[in-house]
Amino acid sequence: MPDRVAAVREKFTSLKIDAFLITSLTNLRYLFGFTGSNGLAVILPGRIVFITDNRYRDQVRDEVKGADIFIARASLFDELARSKALGQAKRVAFEAAHTSVASWQILTRKFPRLTFLATEKILEKITATRTAAELEHTRTACQIACAVWRELVPKIRTGISENDIAAEISYLGRRAGAEGDAFEPIVASGWRSALPHGLASHKKLAAGEFVVVDFGFRYNGFCSDITRTVFLGEPDAQQRALYDAVLEANTRAREAARAGLRCAELDGVARTSLKKRGYEKEFSHSLGHGLGIDVHSMPGVGARSEDVLQAGNVITIEPGLYVPDSGGVRIEDDVHITEEGSELLTPLDRELICIS
Ligand code: ZN
Ligand code: ZN
Repeated sequence: MPDRVAAVREKFTSLKIDAFLITSLTNLRYLFGFTGSNGLAVILPGRIVFITDNRYRDQVRDEVKGADIFIARASLFDELARSKALGQAKRVAFEAAHTSVASWQILTRKFPRLTFLATEKILEKITATRTAAELEHTRTACQIACAVWRELVPKIRTGISENDIAAEISYLGRRAGAEGDAFEPIVASGWRSALPHGLASHKKLAAGEFVVVDFGFRYNGFCSDITRTVFLGEPDAQQRALYDAVLEANTRAREAARAGLRCAELDGVARTSLKKRGYEKEFSHSLGHGLGIDVHSMPGVGARSEDVLQAGNVITIEPGLYVPDSGGVRIEDDVHITEEGSELLTPLDRELICIS
C-alpha cells in the first residue's frame, strides 16, 4: 500500500522523526500485506526495511513489495542492528501501544545513539479508512456472518447449551469460507444475557429467556462482528419493550451515520433514543467501534470519542440494554460510512425471533 506509506512519511516533519519503526502485526498487515506472526518494518524517507524470521522466508517475498527484506538470524532487533537500517537516523518513532517494556529496553540498549519517540494511534488513523480491496474482504466476512446466522436460527432451542451454539457458529463459519472466528463467540442466555460480554458457557437454554448471540468471522484478515438476540417462548410486555427500545436505537443510529458526523454525536443518537423510552444506565457501553483487521479498531464510537466519521470507515452499531438478574438485549450491525450516509453490511432481519 504505497499511499499509506506515503501518509506515514508525511508525519515525519511534524513528529520531527527520520524513521518509523512498526512492530504491530496488525499494522504490518495493513501497510504491507504481511500475514506472518513475527516481523518488523522501518519506514525511512527513501526506503522501507522489512525483517522477519526464516519461517516466512518465501512468504515475505511474495507478500511484501517495495521493501528491502532481511531474514533474521537471531532476534528481529539483532537483525535490525545488523541491517544498519537506522544508521543515518537520529529520532525514531515507535508504536507505544504495541511495544513492550522489554522491547523498549532492548531497543534503547542496542541503539544508544538514537532517540525513540513513543507515538499513539498514528498508524491506526491512517488505516482507519478501508481501501476498495479491504472493503471487499469486510463485505465477504459480513456475508459469511449473515449466512451463518440464517443457518443457526433453526438450531437454537431450549435444552441445548450456549457452548453447543458457539461450536455450531465456529463450524458453520469455516464451512462457509471464513478463516475462522474473529473472536470467541458470545452466547449468553437468561440472566447471563445481562453480561455484555458473556462468553458461551455450559448453561442450557431455557424457556422465557433472551439469548444474545454475538459473533464474527475473519476473511482475508478482515473481521465481521454482529449480534442478534432471540427469545425462547413468548416475551412479556417488559421484555418486548426492552427489545423494541434497542431495535429503535439501532435503527436511529444507522440512519444518522454518515461522514462528517462526530462519533460522540452518533453515540448520542442511540443514547437519546433509549432515554426517551426510559432506559439510561442499562446501556452501559459504547455504541460501537471501528472494525478492521482488529475487531476493535479506529474510530472509537462512544460518548467520549473525539473521532469524526470519515468515508471509508467501517464501524459497528450495537446498542444494548442489560438488566441485572433479568436479561439483556443487543442488536449489532456493521456499516461502511459513505459521504451520503452508510452502507449496511449485515442486512439481516432485526424483528424479534421467538422460538417456541
Ligand atoms: Zn459483537
Ligand atoms: Zn462489536
